Parts: sequence; structure tokens; C-alpha cells
Amino acid sequence: MILGADWVLPMDGPPVRDGAVRIEGGVVAEVSDRLQPDRHFADAVILPGLVNAHTHLEYGSMSAMGDGLPFSPWIEQLILRKSGLVRDDYLAQSHAGVHACLAGGVTTIADCSYADTVAEAAIAQGLRAIVYLEAFSDQGDPAGLMAGRLDALPSHPLITPGISPHAPYTVTTEHYQQLVALARARGIPVATHLLESERDIQPLADLAGVLGPDTVAIHLVRADSDAISLLAGLGVPAVHCPRSNALLGCGTAPVPELLDAGLALGLGTDSPASALTFDMWDEMRAAILLARARAQRPDALSAERVLRMATVDGARAIGLGDSIGSLAPHKRADLTVLDLSATPFLPWEDPITAAVYGGTPDRVLLTIVDGQIRFNRDGGAADTEPARRVRAKMLDR
Ligand SMILES: [Zn+2]
Repeated sequence: MILGADWVLPMDGPPVRDGAVRIEGGVVAEVSDRLQPDRHFADAVILPGLVNAHTHLEYGSMSAMGDGLPFSPWIEQLILRKSGLVRDDYLAQSHAGVHACLAGGVTTIADCSYADTVAEAAIAQGLRAIVYLEAFSDQGDPAGLMAGRLDALPSHPLITPGISPHAPYTVTTEHYQQLVALARARGIPVATHLLESERDIQPLADLAGVLGPDTVAIHLVRADSDAISLLAGLGVPAVHCPRSNALLGCGTAPVPELLDAGLALGLGTDSPASALTFDMWDEMRAAILLARARAQRPDALSAERVLRMATVDGARAIGLGDSIGSLAPHKRADLTVLDLSATPFLPWEDPITAAVYGGTPDRVLLTIVDGQIRFNRDGGAADTEPARRVRAKMLDR
């Protein structure tokens, strides 16, 4: 299969005008302006599939629930709303979330899974996923439970299992140590919410012994210069979730400072309960607006840098940088085609800026994961009814 467009954005090299991507055996074989495409997309760009580096697909029906509440009552209300759900309800949300990701140009997610349903939904629709099983100290023996939960996950080439100790205010340091030790014994990745809100009052130094290049720090809104130096020294990668942090009134992470310190930084939507949707295009624009407003500088975060966060840098942050994130020979063929014909960004000035400012899920024409077409705008619409039923059930509480 050879797909061409006005521009190909490989993200580990300069944009290719009238370029094409040759896909063979599930991998990128060649990116060039000398190929004869089977199909050419006019007024469009081909880019690496977006990497949503922090999601909770199982909360996909919770958009805007408790909007405007302070962080603690907000999270308590979500816990109440969730309390009547059964596994099938979480699975329905996971299926809807996987579809929303693929339809929005996302080819990889790194998800914190509460009810262990995300792998099943991702496999069913062909989305690549790191599935961190989420652990809380109120589970009693989270590390003991975790071994069995990991063993029960379906094994599949698109799925990387992982572990997520939820956050320092819900997981004791001892449980962090046990969970991270288990992850390291199995060679699987870890992610944890860190320095998100005023609830994170534990000194970061308490976790210094467990944090490392294999433990992703999600949020870092409250990272001061000491925290940034500590994390950079330990090689900890991070994920920025600007819409979630802004909507919950938590603030916004010090992105230029994190980048200057050399942290690998990805971008994630977090759950729709806080971020409203799994729309990574909106997330990229929010990252730019908030970084520039906070720094009072237009060069605080560039469109190119934020697109790197949503692709190649995000892949690196979650430990998949060798296999995905850019359109380079031998990487897995994960890509998306974005139509910009109905936008004010044509004729082209700069295709990266046009994609970042003009991208929406509605303008995604095609999404390919591992060389397979997993979303096609010309295909049928998704069944939204199961996820709506779950939302109705939550609103009843
Ligand atoms: Zn989260």
C-alpha cells in the first residue's frame, strides 16, 4: 500500500512535499516524493498516528460530570457515580473510547485501567495500547492482587501491560515500592499521577527510590525547580495534560522548564471526566495557548514541538520510541491522514502549523495501525448507544 498527500510529516525529518508512504508487512518501508501512490489525498497531510500518552478510556461517558467543583469534591463525586457500575459498563466505555481515539487520528494510547477492560476493547478494534492496571492502597494488598490481574490480561502484539500506582495521596510509599518492584521484575512500564493538585502534599523525595526512566510521571503541574531537577536527574519521563489541569483549576505544568531540563514529554487527554473528550488536536492547541499565556511569550511552545509531544516524543516518553511515533523505515506503520481542505490554513504556509491549528477528529480521513486500516471516514458510524446507557446509569446516582 502506498498513500500520498500534499505533505507527509515524518516527524523525525523535514516535511516532504507531495510525499508518499509505502507500507509493507505492517511497517513503514519508505517515505519519499518519488513514489507512485495508490491513493493521493489532496489538501491533506499524512502524519504519524497520534500518541495519547494518558487516558482513562473506562471513564469515557463521564464528560463534564461535576464541572466546576473543586478537585476533592469532584473526585469524590466521580467515585459515587462509578459505584454502581459493573464490568460490562466499563467495557462499553472502553469500546466507545477506542473508537473515538481511532476516529480522531490516535493510534496509540497509554491508559490507566481501573476495571481491566481496556485491553479487550483495544484488541477488538486494533488500537495499540499500553494498559497500566491501576492500583490503590484501599484495595488492601494491591501488589498481591496485581500479579493475578496482569496474568488475566489478554496477550496480543498491540498490547503492552503495565502498572499504575494511582497517586501519592491514594497509594502508600510501601505499596509504590512493591508495585514498582513487581513491574521491574516483569520488565513492564509504570505510570503514576504526580504533582497534579493540592492533594499531592507528600514530598517528592519520598518516591525518589522508585522513580526512574521506566516510571512515567503524569501531570507535574506543581513541579518547582527542585522537583524538576530531581525528576530530570532520575531520567523520569512525563506526560502533560493541559485541558484536564486547566478545567479542574489545578493550573498548568511548567512545560518550557520541563523541556529545558531534558525530560521526555508526551501529551495526553486524561479522562473525559476532566478533559471532556479524547481529542488530541484540541489538547495540542490547549498546550500551546496555556504555555504561551503562562510564560507571556509566543515562543514558549511551538506548534512543531507540541506535535512532537503528540507523536515522536510521546512515544519515547512511554517507552515505545523505537517502534512508533515517527514515519521512519522499519517503524510500525501507524499513521493518520488529515484533511485540511475546509480550513483557512490553505494554501499552505507551513504544513505542521496547519495540521496543529486545523486538525479536528472530523477532519481525520483514515487511521492505520500496524499497517491495517482501523478507521475510514467513509465507513459506517459507531454505535453510541451502550456508552449513553452507562452515562444514564451514572447520572441516576
Ligand atoms: Zn489520569
